Amino acid sequence: MNQNRLSRRNFLKSSAAIAAFVSAGSLAYSESPEVFNNAPVSPLKIPGWRRGHLHQHSFWSDGSATLEEACSLYRDAGYEFVVPSDHGRFQADTDKWFTPEGPKRAAYERGQSRYHFPMQTKEEGGKLQLRMRNFDELSALLNQEDRFLLIPGHELTTHGADGVQVHSNLINSRAEVTQELVDKLEGQAPAMYMSRKITGDKMSPHCSGHESVSWSLRAIKEMIGDTPKDEVFFMFNHPDWIWYDVQPEWLCEQPEIRFFELINCGPNFPGRPDFWTTEKFWDIINAFRADKNQPLIMGTATDDTHNYQRFYTDFETAAGGSVMVRCETLDAVDLMKALNRGDFYAAVGVWLNDVQFDKSTGTLAVDVHAEKGVNYKIDFIGTRRGFDKTFRTIDSPKEGRYPARKINVYSESVGEIFKTVEGTHAEYTMTDDDLYVRARITAMVSARCTMRGKPDHPSCWTQPVQK
Ligand SMILES: [Zn+2]
Ligand SMILES: [Zn+2]
Repeated sequence: MNQNRLSRRNFLKSSAAIAAFVSAGSLAYSESPEVFNNAPVSPLKIPGWRRGHLHQHSFWSDGSATLEEACSLYRDAGYEFVVPSDHGRFQADTDKWFTPEGPKRAAYERGQSRYHFPMQTKEEGGKLQLRMRNFDELSALLNQEDRFLLIPGHELTTHGADGVQVHSNLINSRAEVTQELVDKLEGQAPAMYMSRKITGDKMSPHCSGHESVSWSLRAIKEMIGDTPKDEVFFMFNHPDWIWYDVQPEWLCEQPEIRFFELINCGPNFPGRPDFWTTEKFWDIINAFRADKNQPLIMGTATDDTHNYQRFYTDFETAAGGSVMVRCETLDAVDLMKALNRGDFYAAVGVWLNDVQFDKSTGTLAVDVHAEKGVNYKIDFIGTRRGFDKTFRTIDSPKEGRYPARKINVYSESVGEIFKTVEGTHAEYTMTDDDLYVRARITAMVSARCTMRGKPDHPSCWTQPVQK
């Protein structure tokens, strides 16, 4: 009777429960999604847009929540699609068990007290073990037509010998790093050290962090295989982690990398010195790429959620980073196509009714979905032809566990503010000198989102456009 003991108790707490639940010695059960989809917050409905979250972790890697809870919290916070992106693995196993201990046990109890998911459990050596629902089981449980969708993904890690880590999310793909893939890539020296959890200590890192960027790209391409490029989404994650690791010049050299995390509200980020911001990083890459007629890089916002405790202290402000995608249908392929087209903006607490770019006139126009009583500032930011390409190099000293780094600092001519408007609607018409332009919309109130890595004010960022 130990089996399912906990879950049975929680299950019985749920008065609306109608799922047939077979306990005591059998792992078979059936579930009815209606039981659990009691979302308290209606999704943010701005006609034509879908709010999504592209980066979060669960017990499948180093997150502190079941996948069930992790996704449900975002659903209940008004998101319409989420990507569970665990480190180094897609959640495919059908017989994966996990022992939540210490804080993770507390996190498990907390999640169950809110959601009462029937979990398959057993005890071994006096310890509770959970069977983890895999992605397909979870989708069957949580997906709701035109209301909520799980999209598969995972976070790939490559390590450089210099301590630099390169993380990237591969979204709407069930591919994962296998030993076979690592062997194949390793055969094309220099060796790399990829997704530690998969490769263990078998490989030693010989490549630099810089080389590791192109290795990540190569691995992603192998993993995508024949899937049409616009049906998967590849995002380069948190370039400032672990310590301003990724130099913008590396991404200038890799124009196939077209998306990166502009905002990562993850919990483990160092405070940024004034001279290093992901916005400046963004403009450096785009200035040099535009100068060479290469595709621009676009920005996303995520929470990179590992710890879900904040949803239990202030639910309203717990979720921060979002992508708002212009997509009529809540369909994974359609959403990926829209993202790949750049038909989205990155948001932390500011929403748009519309953003339009008229290529014939070079006019970028934004219309804010304004909150009553809040003032907005709209900045149009870009870089002009003939910008100053020189930089000075400064030392970022070793600090705690963060190694010393060298950082190139570029002039103000990279990422200039072309025009500022106070209000809820503004437009900017590009001149022939403008390489690209983008808009940043800021609410002139303090940020409600309290995570590290957050912007100081609620903000959103449209993608860069070119005439
Ligand atoms: Zn990461
Ligand atoms: Zn992550």
